[in-house]
Amino acid sequence: MRPEALNPLFAEVETLEGVGPKLKKPLTRLRLERIRDVAFHLPERFVSRRPVANIDEAGEGEQIVIALTAVEHRASRSSRGPYRVLARDDAGNVIALTYFGRASYTARKQLPVGEKRWVAGRLERYGDMLQIVHPDHVLEDGGASLGHLTEPVYRLSEGLTQPLLAKLVAQALERTPDLPEWIDPAEVVRERWPDWRDALHLAHRGEHPAARDRLAYDEMLANSLALMLVRADNRARRGTPLTGDGRLRAKLALPFPLTGAQQRSIAEIEGDLAQATPMLRLLQGDVGAGKTVVALEAMLIAAEAGAQAALLAPTEILARQHFETLRRMAAPTGARVEILTGRGSSRSGGKVREATLMGLVDGSVDILVGTHAIFQEQVAYRNLALVVIDEQHRFGVSQRLMLAGKGKRAPHVLAMTATPIPRTLQLADYGELDVSKLDEMPPGRQPIDTRVVGIERMEDVIAGVARHLEGGQQAYWVCPMVRESEEGDTAAAEARFAALRERFGDRVVLVHGQLAPEAKDAAMERFASGHAKLLVATTVIEVGVDVPAATLMVIEQAERFGLAQLHQLRGRVGRGAEKSACLLLRSDVLSEVARDRLKLMRETQDGFRLAEEDLRLRGGGELLGTRQSGETLFRIANLEQIARLLPTAHDDARLLMEHGGGLEGPRGEAVRLLLYLFERDAGVRTLRGG
Ligand code: ADP
Ligand code: MG
Repeated sequence: MRPEALNPLFAEVETLEGVGPKLKKPLTRLRLERIRDVAFHLPERFVSRRPVANIDEAGEGEQIVIALTAVEHRASRSSRGPYRVLARDDAGNVIALTYFGRASYTARKQLPVGEKRWVAGRLERYGDMLQIVHPDHVLEDGGASLGHLTEPVYRLSEGLTQPLLAKLVAQALERTPDLPEWIDPAEVVRERWPDWRDALHLAHRGEHPAARDRLAYDEMLANSLALMLVRADNRARRGTPLTGDGRLRAKLALPFPLTGAQQRSIAEIEGDLAQATPMLRLLQGDVGAGKTVVALEAMLIAAEAGAQAALLAPTEILARQHFETLRRMAAPTGARVEILTGRGSSRSGGKVREATLMGLVDGSVDILVGTHAIFQEQVAYRNLALVVIDEQHRFGVSQRLMLAGKGKRAPHVLAMTATPIPRTLQLADYGELDVSKLDEMPPGRQPIDTRVVGIERMEDVIAGVARHLEGGQQAYWVCPMVRESEEGDTAAAEARFAALRERFGDRVVLVHGQLAPEAKDAAMERFASGHAKLLVATTVIEVGVDVPAATLMVIEQAERFGLAQLHQLRGRVGRGAEKSACLLLRSDVLSEVARDRLKLMRETQDGFRLAEEDLRLRGGGELLGTRQSGETLFRIANLEQIARLLPTAHDDARLLMEHGGGLEGPRGEAVRLLLYLFERDAGVRTLRGG
C-alpha cells in the first residue's frame, strides 16, 4: 500500500542506533515512534551561549557556559523536591544546579564534589540564590566548544536529554530519501522554498523560516487534499434519504421550549437527512448552548424513518451521561436507546451487552450511544443511517476519515463541537463542511462570577468551598495539569483528593483517567445524584459533563491550561438557575501571557472571543490547547503558519483536484507520497475504493 520510497521513514525508532527498550518509552511519550516522527520533531528554538569566567559577568535569564566546581550535593527531603548541587565559580560565587525527578541520578554521576566541569544552561534567580535548572551540558573538558555554538532545543520527555535527541535526529535525517516535488513548482520558486529533504535538514540546523514554512505547507497541503478527497468521495456515494413523519418527536416532552438557534439547526439537519447524498455537517455551539437536544431530534428523525442512529462520545463518562440523558428524554417517545462502551462486558454484564448487540442486528435498538467501541468489527447494525459525533475536536483526523469511509451506504454524519473555531482553523479542521451554529444561549443563564486567586490563599478557598457545600450546593475541583504526563495528573489529583477528604469526608469523590471504569462510573453517579458534593478530577471532566446543581468550579494552576480548555471547564457550571462561580487558582510566578489569559477569563464568557484571543496571545503556539490533550491536527504547522499559509495550501489543493489531474500524472504520484507521508492516506484509499 505505502509507496516503497517511504519505507526508510516508516521504520521503527528501535532501528536507530542507541535506541533500546529504555529509550523507547520516553520517545513514545513524545509520539516519536518512527524515523519520520524523529525527523519531523523540529526544534522548539535555538540557543547560543556566552562563555563567562564567573557569574558576576552574566545576566539573569542569560544562556551561559561557565566552569564550576561542585562543593556539595543536597537531596531534598521529599521525593518530589529538587536535587541541588551547589557549585563555585572561579571568583568563589556559589550557584545551585537544580534537578528534578530522575535527572538527579545524572547529576550524581556528572558532578563529583571537588572536580571542575563545564556547565551550559540558563542562569536564573531562585530566591536570593542563582541557579541553573537542568543544565543542557555538563562536560569535563571542551568548554570552549560550547560557547558561541548554536544548538537546537527540542521538546523532551523524562529520560531524554538534548544531546541524546540531537543524535537520534541526525541519524534520522541521514535516512531521509530524496522525494519528488509535490508542491506546485511555480509556488516553490515564488516562495524560494528549498526541496523537501533540504528543508528538513535546514530546519534542524538553525533559524530558517523558509524551510519551516515549506514543511508546514506540506502538512497543510496534505491535510487539505485529504479533506477534499474524502468530501468528493462522500458526494459520490449514496446515503439513505431519511424523512421523518414527526410521530416520535411529537411525543417528546421537553421541559423547555427550543431556542430559535436550536430550531434552525434542526431544520437544516432535517433538510440534509432527506437527501440521498450523505450529510456532513458540523454543529457548532458554545458550552451549554444545548447541542444534545439537537442531536436527539436528529436521531429521532432517523428512527421515524425506520433507520438507526449512533452517538459517538470521546470518553466513557460522557457516553454514560449522554446515554442517561437521552434515555430519559426519549422515554415518552418509545424509542429504544442503548449503550455500548469498550469495556462493556465487565461493566454492564455480558448479557446486557449481548442483548444490545442483538437489538442492533434486528433493528430494535433505535439509538446507540457509546465510545469508539460502537464501530468495532463485531458490532453489526441492521440499518445505521446517522452518526453523531460529540465533541468532535477530541477525535483525530484519521478517525474522522475512517468513519466517513465505512459501510456500503454512507451514513449521514453530524459532528458537534463546543470549541469555537476561528475561521482559518475551521478550514484546517473540516475543509468546507456545512455548518450549523447555535449562536443563542438558552434563556435564564446567569453569568459565572469568575475570580483569579493566588495559590497562597488556599486556606480561604477551602473555607469557601466548605461554605458552598454547607449551603447544600455542589462543586468541582480540577487539579493541575502536569506537563506531558497523565500519571503526573493522576498523582496531583490523588494528593488533592486525600487532603480534601480529610476535611470533607465521604462527600468528596475522585475521578481521573486511570481509574477502573466501574470506579469512575460509581463516582460520577454519586456526584450526579447529589450524594457526593465535591468532585475532584483531572481534565477528564473537561468535555460535556452536565450536572446542573454544581455551581462552583475550582481550577488549580489555572495558568497551565489553555484558554479554550479553561472555557470548557468553566462551562461545567452555570447550567442551572442558581448563580455560579469559578475560582482560578494561580501560582505566585506568572508570565505576562499567562496573566493576560487569566484576566481575559475574568472579563468574558464568550467562547469565540476567547478562541480568537487565544490565537492572538499564543501566536505560534499551540492549537487551542488541544496539543495538551494529545490530539493535534498538525505536528509541524503552528497557528501563525496556519493563518498565513493555509488559504494558499487549500487553493493549491483545489486547483490540483479540479484542473491538475488529481492523483494522476507525475505530480499526482508525488502527491500520493505526500499523503502517505503525513498519514492522510485514507484519502487515497477512499478514492481508489470508490
Ligand atoms: P452542550 O451544547 O454544551 O452540549 P447541553 O446539551 O448539555 O449543552 O445542554 C446544557 C443544558 O442546557 C442542559 O442541562 C440542557 O437540558 C439545557 N438546555 C438545552 N436546551 C435548552 C433550552 N432551549 N432551554 C433551556 N435549557 C436548555
Ligand atoms: Mg455536550
